[in-house]
Amino acid sequence: MVTIRPELDVVTESLVELHGRLAALTDGTLADYIPQLALADPHAFALSLVSMHGDRYQAGEAGLPFTVQSVSKPFVYALALAELGLEEVSRWVGTEPSGEAYNAISLEPGTGRPDNAMINAGAIVTTALVSGGTCEQRFERILDCLSRFAGRRLDVDEAVYASEAQTGNRNRALAYLMSSTGALPATPSDAVDTYFRQCAVRVTTRDLAVMAATLANGGVNPVTGETVVPRHVAVQVLAVMASCGMYDASGAWLLRVGLPAKSGVGGGLIAVSPARFGIAVHSPLLDASGTPVRGVAVMRELSERFGLHLMHHPMRSAPTVTHADAGEWTGLVAAQGALDFTAAERLLRELSGVVPGTGGCVVLDLLDVTSIDAAGALMVSSALTRLEEQGHRAVLAVGPRAAADARLSAWQSFTSRQEALEWCENLRPAE
Ligand code: GLU
Repeated sequence: MVTIRPELDVVTESLVELHGRLAALTDGTLADYIPQLALADPHAFALSLVSMHGDRYQAGEAGLPFTVQSVSKPFVYALALAELGLEEVSRWVGTEPSGEAYNAISLEPGTGRPDNAMINAGAIVTTALVSGGTCEQRFERILDCLSRFAGRRLDVDEAVYASEAQTGNRNRALAYLMSSTGALPATPSDAVDTYFRQCAVRVTTRDLAVMAATLANGGVNPVTGETVVPRHVAVQVLAVMASCGMYDASGAWLLRVGLPAKSGVGGGLIAVSPARFGIAVHSPLLDASGTPVRGVAVMRELSERFGLHLMHHPMRSAPTVTHADAGEWTGLVAAQGALDFTAAERLLRELSGVVPGTGGCVVLDLLDVTSIDAAGALMVSSALTRLEEQGHRAVLAVGPRAAADARLSAWQSFTSRQEALEWCENLRPAE
């Protein structure tokens, strides 16, 4: 791995600048309803960012341990989704924002099903859904999953666990209430005990950034290279984080920051910039909704500075079609870059202008295409199928990347444009 030169490290520079300036923000209070959390250092403040290549950037004490609390919720939801699938998990936990506090009784009238897996009620059900014969086995699976997301073996802060186990009657009440309507797939005491242990897992800001980066990277931990959950599960978790991750402030967060996120009363906050990075902030001073005040400030500024909002118009690096030629017998279009929906839509329009008379050929030169996503492959293969049905021959010139794409393997392919054109010319009927 190449170490970045300090003068080129603009990511660290940004984090250090934000850290230095926002340390002056001392609004908020420590969580004290779990007595042990009230002993946290109110000045603790750290930022950590992990890229899709597993490179780490940080400011402040990013190696300081604290308890994960509610930041565990999306990861245990991911585990339940990976084990049972979205249909089964959704029978037990909804996917709608509650618009209420994290510890609210947000249960669907009639069924008692909690609104979503990011609030306590939904998280207690999600925890109970994880497979395991005994409480210990279930917790071991959860700890193992959180550890694989973090890329190192995590452990439990026994003092925080004991503190919440002694005082967590509201969560117990939620569990008994759900159990009374058959909405909890375990005994209330087992479900809540496992949930308290899960919340007391000890992490650092650096761990949380790796965990967030794993979701950003489609479920593959960018530091260890391990596939922790399938890609579709990472997408499902990010969707629920985007709509429900910040409790009753989820709408304002999506509007102003525009990234899937999750906070916890231990002071941890993660945000995910899909395919870019995972970021974590630690600062235990919380606002009225239980969210770290500095965490919100950091993420608002960072999102604006780097234009990270999910709804931003994506950048297009270069025009898709580099060459189009309407021959009498053979039409040619050459494309470059990533072939996604927008690029394929452009390419097919240009192709329309060069399709020759019936029987003639079309050559798609994809040698400079660097990647083809599902939309690009579907659109190109459907269009070529249609052309062949109408009596044309479709031929590709493809590089190693596109050649390996099974979705385009049905067509006659050559490794150079010249060969493709010559092949077409040989099909031309003699005058
Ligand atoms: N263990 C905490 C609770 O259930 C987690 C809440 C949070 O982090 O928002 O009350």
